[in-house]
Formats: sequence, C-alpha cells, structure tokens
Amino acid sequence: MSDFKELNKRSANAYAQQRNLIKQVLAGKAKQCEHCKQPLFVVLPGQEKAPGVYCTKGCTSIELELSLPK
Ligand SMILES: [Zn+2]
Repeated sequence: MSDFKELNKRSANAYAQQRNLIKQVLAGKAKQCEHCKQPLFVVLPGQEKAPGVYCTKGCTSIELELSLPK
C-alpha cells in the first residue's frame, strides 16, 4: 500500500514539473529536452499536432489538457 502511495506522490510530482515546464515554455523561456538537449517547442491548439510541448526528437511530448483562450 505504501508503494502505491509513493508512486502516486511521484507521479503527482512529475505532473507538477510538467505543468511548470509548460508554463515556462509558454512564457517564452527557452528550455531544452532533458534527454536529447534539443530545444522544446510549443504546439498550440488549432495546429496539426495535438497541443503541447515537444522536442524535435520526440522524447519529450507533453500534451496540454487545458484549452487555451483563443
Ligand atoms: Zn528530446
């Protein structure tokens, strides 16, 4: 049971980190993928890809669940 709790805590943490990352990229900060060191870019709603934050190699792929105001 405690393992499960720990896992939950960890994924909540990762989630918070992702949200933070998205916020920073959306704010225009240059961030790099922590795996391939390529710059991260934002895909906004209405583009052909699902909205989110991606790196060119695809190892970072965080889809946005929130819909941004148009
Ligand atoms: Zn990458």
